[in-house]
Amino acid sequence: MGKAAQTTGGKMRKKADLPAKICVICHRPFAWRRKWAVCWDQVRYCSEKCRRTRQSATLSVQDRRL
Ligand SMILES: [Zn+2]
Repeated sequence: MGKAAQTTGGKMRKKADLPAKICVICHRPFAWRRKWAVCWDQVRYCSEKCRRTRQSATLSVQDRRL
């Protein structure tokens, strides 16, 4: 009778809470990952594959931050 704490866990966490971006290569949304915790502002690609695609597609690009 003493335990009436039914308000615990009232808010359910959804994966949608994570920040997301649109990949500049495949234009698909991708969610934040732990490995990007330190460089999320600079992340532009959803995957290593897209990143390589970008590099091979534009060899003349001078912005090599990643
Ligand atoms: Zn992509």
